[in-house]
Amino acid sequence: TSTKRSSFGEEFMNNFKNRNPGEIEFHQAVHEVTESLLNFIEDNPKYKNAKILERMSEPERIIIFRVPWVDDKGEIQVNRGYRVEMNSAIGPYKGGLRFHPTVNLSILKFLAFEQVFKNSLTTLPMGGGKGGSDFDPKQKTDGEVMRFCQSFMTELSKHIGPNTDVPAGDIGVGGREIGFLFGQYKRLRNEFTGVLTGKGREWGGSLIRPEATGYGTVYFADEMLRTRNDSFKGKIVTVSGSGNVAQFTTEKVNELGGKVVTLSDSSGFIHDPDGIDAEKLKFVMRLKNIKRGRIEEYAKKFGAEYYANERPWKIKCDVALPCATQNEINKQEAELLIKNGCICVSEGANMPSTPDAVDVYLKNKILYGPGKAANAGGVSVSGLEMSQNSLRMSWTREEVDGHLKRIMQDIHTTCVKYGKTKDGFINYMDGANIGGFVKVAEAMLAQGLV
Ligand code: GLU
Repeated sequence: TSTKRSSFGEEFMNNFKNRNPGEIEFHQAVHEVTESLLNFIEDNPKYKNAKILERMSEPERIIIFRVPWVDDKGEIQVNRGYRVEMNSAIGPYKGGLRFHPTVNLSILKFLAFEQVFKNSLTTLPMGGGKGGSDFDPKQKTDGEVMRFCQSFMTELSKHIGPNTDVPAGDIGVGGREIGFLFGQYKRLRNEFTGVLTGKGREWGGSLIRPEATGYGTVYFADEMLRTRNDSFKGKIVTVSGSGNVAQFTTEKVNELGGKVVTLSDSSGFIHDPDGIDAEKLKFVMRLKNIKRGRIEEYAKKFGAEYYANERPWKIKCDVALPCATQNEINKQEAELLIKNGCICVSEGANMPSTPDAVDVYLKNKILYGPGKAANAGGVSVSGLEMSQNSLRMSWTREEVDGHLKRIMQDIHTTCVKYGKTKDGFINYMDGANIGGFVKVAEAMLAQGLV
């Protein structure tokens, strides 16, 4: 009966929240998944009896450690390092490292939890994890970042390995940081292995890895549009963020004939109605990746509008691609998107929409691709980097991009399989949550009480 159904969910969520007091982002992520899974678990008592959801929401292991380092003035600094090893039922823990002052246990547990479902959806054998530090790389010199990374890896190296736990980048961790981390691991362990992904091309990295999250987000949106006989041709697209994900999202939208009109950072956003074409994108890449400057510079350079301390969702668009961070679209902004005619939201970031923003998308039946499906291209190519490292080979751009495209199509197919409702509407959120869950749950059942 319906009362029985809801009481299981309520009881589970109450216990879960009591065990994890104050961890609001982790609550948010687990609550969303629970809502999607409620009926499915009631219909499959084996998962309920084996307490799979209770086990999946409890990390297998968490490591928290001190990261002391010396800044350029010779002063000692202390940060906190983390690795959340969430689930290894289908493969070694896999997931990024985030260096940002907002990093805390709640945020890393939510990210690690999302990663389990995302990695399961990729079709590749990867468990889920996430880590990072409250270290702020902004305004730091290369030397300071290097010394921090070396100290961070000195402890982390005891807990990871190519068959155990394979970190990668996330916010604040790009090619530079992965280089410093890899160098330190190699010295400490005296072994050259694929212990990190997102490595440089010359030392075991995969082609297309930098592009993968952005390209994948657009491939996924393209698949969603296809279900309504539509495409990116002529579409006005708003993108948030201006880092790695936003950059290659923009590149791929341009390639498919759409027009990206916004980019942002934590200080504000730029609006360029003429579109951010290949030339302008090159400027953004240099500005962000080499000069580590602010997006405001774009407005100065090209005479575009700059909106300080605002987010791009008030700009009229057909497709919105949030590629910045969690909870960057709230209910009012979601309503504004719909009112202005937006038909598709594909999430390059992790959990960028608040739960009531997601409700607005679903109520209005727009195409909504949740991050754990739409942004899975990044970790997918990380998985392909692991494969190439194991083979001691490297594949061509075309090969890797072909795999990426196929994986994004497979993820879309899985979402349709588990998310299609009676009236034909595809609830990609339910589809991704159930599709990601089944594989991990079956593995856990098969492996005994783990
Ligand atoms: N941080 C990325 C994500 O959220 C990539 C993780 C990886 O490549 O391991 O999926």
